[in-house]
Amino acid sequence: MKVADNPAPRPARRDVTVASVMAPTPRLRRIVLEGPDLADIRSDRFDDHVKLLVPGTDVRRSYTIRHVDAQARQLTLDCVLHGHGPAAQWAASVRAGDRVTVFGPKPRHEPVAFAETRILFGDTTALPAMARCLETADRHSGRVHVYVALDDAGERQRDLKPLRPGDTLAWLDPDGMDDLGWVRLRHAARRHDWSAADITAWIATETSVARRLRAELIEEEALSRTQIKAAGYWRAGEVDGGMRL
Ligand SMILES: Cc1cc2nc3c(=O)[nH]c(=O)nc-3n(C[C@H](O)[C@H](O)[C@H](O)COP(=O)(O)OP(=O)(O)OC[C@H]3O[C@@H](n4cnc5c(N)ncnc54)[C@H](O)[C@@H]3O)c2cc1C
Repeated sequence: MKVADNPAPRPARRDVTVASVMAPTPRLRRIVLEGPDLADIRSDRFDDHVKLLVPGTDVRRSYTIRHVDAQARQLTLDCVLHGHGPAAQWAASVRAGDRVTVFGPKPRHEPVAFAETRILFGDTTALPAMARCLETADRHSGRVHVYVALDDAGERQRDLKPLRPGDTLAWLDPDGMDDLGWVRLRHAARRHDWSAADITAWIATETSVARRLRAELIEEEALSRTQIKAAGYWRAGEVDGGMRL
């Protein structure tokens, strides 16, 4: 068996305290974590995530880093209250002063800046990453276009706006079809102008929808696999169903 010369460093364990809990929308909890274990935290990429160890269990679930401030030793997560599952239940009942452990993010050494046009497709679990991509627009010269399929129109985050002219954010409200946003995201993809010379797509939503949307972009928009980064962030009917596709 070949042993790697430089095995990847393990994501750091961070034992932290809940500093505050806010509800930007009815089904979202914005949870600010703080503590000395965050003094060296760094997150350069908009879709960096940590693994949250649900207190009192051995359950670990992925959450995107919505915001990080190593100086203030704070980390912010936006957790969707989807109604089932230990992580969502923890988020629904967590209070300031509670203790929790997170692992990560994985150290990465890729450049932050990008020049290409990026089209982002997702649901409310992807919104923290998509919001970060819009907000870090000063760090890149490419355009960002975001399509987010909501499962409830009340989940629009009114204060979230693209910072730069040319970037766009489209809220796709529920249309009565119980298809996890598939038809809305596909329509958005079909309507989008894909003619920019250098273009990539990022997809993060329910796993079967992410898979179908990736296939759609390859078949209908002639994108290559290397132009698409797709992930299932959760899977209907499955525990811990997120996966990189
Ligand atoms: C890289 C990555 C980053 C992520 N970032 C975020 C984030 O920032 N915020 C966030 O809220 N989520 C995020 N997720 C999704 C989150 O990890 C999953 O929703 C996870 O399954 C929640 O765990 P749970 O214990 O609540 O539910 P589980 O125990 O995993 O699942 C229990 C049941 O709930 C269902 N379920 C799970 N998630 C949802 C959902 N969103 N809507 C409806 N039903 C659901 C499952 O199908 C299952 O039937 C991310 C996932 C990945 C892979």
